[in-house]
Amino acid sequence: MIPFLDLKSLNAPMKKELMKAIENVFDSGWYILGRQLILFEKEFAKYCGTRYAVGVGNGLDALILIFRAYKEMGIMREGDEVIVPANTYIASILAVTENRLKPVLVEPDLATYNIDPDLIEEKITDKTRAIMVVHLYGRVGYSDKIRKIADKYNLKVIEDGAQSHGAEYKGRKSGNLGDAAGHSLYPSKPFGALGDAGVVTTNDPKLAEVVSAIRNYGSYKKYYNRYKGVNSRLDELQAAVLSVKLKYLDKDNDERRKIADLYLESIKNKKIALPQVKDKKSHVWHLFAIRAKDREQFAEHMLKKGIETLIHYPVPPHKQEAFKEWKSQKYPITEEIHDTVISLPLYGTMTKRQIEQVIEACNAF
Ligand SMILES: *Cc1c(COP(=O)(O)O)cnc(C)c1O
Repeated sequence: MIPFLDLKSLNAPMKKELMKAIENVFDSGWYILGRQLILFEKEFAKYCGTRYAVGVGNGLDALILIFRAYKEMGIMREGDEVIVPANTYIASILAVTENRLKPVLVEPDLATYNIDPDLIEEKITDKTRAIMVVHLYGRVGYSDKIRKIADKYNLKVIEDGAQSHGAEYKGRKSGNLGDAAGHSLYPSKPFGALGDAGVVTTNDPKLAEVVSAIRNYGSYKKYYNRYKGVNSRLDELQAAVLSVKLKYLDKDNDERRKIADLYLESIKNKKIALPQVKDKKSHVWHLFAIRAKDREQFAEHMLKKGIETLIHYPVPPHKQEAFKEWKSQKYPITEEIHDTVISLPLYGTMTKRQIEQVIEACNAF
């Protein structure tokens, strides 16, 4: 059986280094908001090319805290609108609604699965304060076109970088494309911890300061609270683990790019639509999502060949029970994507034979 993802095998080569890092934290006797976090924040900011990185509890919180901080800074207010892609993982949208802001959904481009920049402007009102770009599946969704629209209407550009660590646009890294970015460091993401973790990156000193206060009860100095904050901290163990893993991120991304190249070259089947990418650096292939007309049949066929597939995602946000109020809204491109996408296994520890097996099975469908 070729599993969809094998995190154990991916982490195994780093085991010794990771265990050493974990042991160091254990021995230090300091487990929350310490040297490991400060070090990791410095390293991750450097990696992204931003001035600041602030570690938080998870990816959803990273996004929530960005909007929360903008509210505290007086840049956004309850009821303001945020443009978000209709085609995303639900967390992107929950970050907006959690802050009592209003998500305004925009259809994606079928060729990229990312927000269609040509459809943004018509959704802008005098209440719009931000555009959220989600680099879905690991492909950069930001472009100069989006920045231009944001500048024209004085909007913030917020990146959901949960799936795109290391992806680049014109030499700049994901996380350093908009005004602020929220990254998930969930174990299966391109860059993941050994548990829950997240991080905010930005070049805005005020935003970084407010997010770091809010993540720790709104405190800017021990027992002095400026905001009604929350507890969403990135702990020392995960920070130490992430500092080790960051050294391997580029290598991991390159390994996945190589497999993606092989899939793109060798999968030839009229029933399957492959993703198309012009700039190789713009994609880190968190997921290799194809579209198949008879998706259930395709999944069954692959399973018979001993290959696990997964669907990202079967139900679009506007069709979720959680968003009953959107039930009657129609987003045909989003729905088409959610009805037909299916992801193939793609990770660095797949053997050459396993990669061939996936290709052969796709071509035999
Ligand atoms: C994983 C993910 C998140 C949320 O991250 P968590 O760490 O699970 O909270 C947000 N947005 C997208 C696009 C994701 O894939």
